[in-house]
Amino acid sequence: MKQDRILRECLRISREKNLAHPLRSKGWKYIHWSFIIQDEKIISVGMNRDAAIEVILPGRKDGRKIHAEQDAVRRARNTLQLSKHWYMVNVRLNKKGLMRNSAPCSRCRSISEWLGMDRIIFTINEGWATWLNPYEHRRKK
Ligand SMILES: [Zn+2]
Repeated sequence: MKQDRILRECLRISREKNLAHPLRSKGWKYIHWSFIIQDEKIISVGMNRDAAIEVILPGRKDGRKIHAEQDAVRRARNTLQLSKHWYMVNVRLNKKGLMRNSAPCSRCRSISEWLGMDRIIFTINEGWATWLNPYEHRRKK
């Protein structure tokens, strides 16, 4: 199956890139990778990271993190054809390389669904789970 091949490829790239992730050296435990797939090809790879420009509200100390899904969408802005099918794959691996939960947060899910994503496939503890976009799944040609 083509999708199986894509998932294996996403895992392989995540394992390869995990060690070089910029947040790794900061001891960040939750390294996420997001892949955008269209026409059976990975067209974008996103990662979670610190925002280059932080907007901090008065009285709040937290900076802003860019989630992997947002990064993937931004990197696909010149290649993703919104009128055609596309889906997303999320991967999170722990230090031992084992698959861990990478379900998207509600904000990333909403943004991606609004942009017409068919479905998101994400790692869970040693496996995969899929959420379909109820508004777009099977609608497009
Ligand atoms: Zn998110």
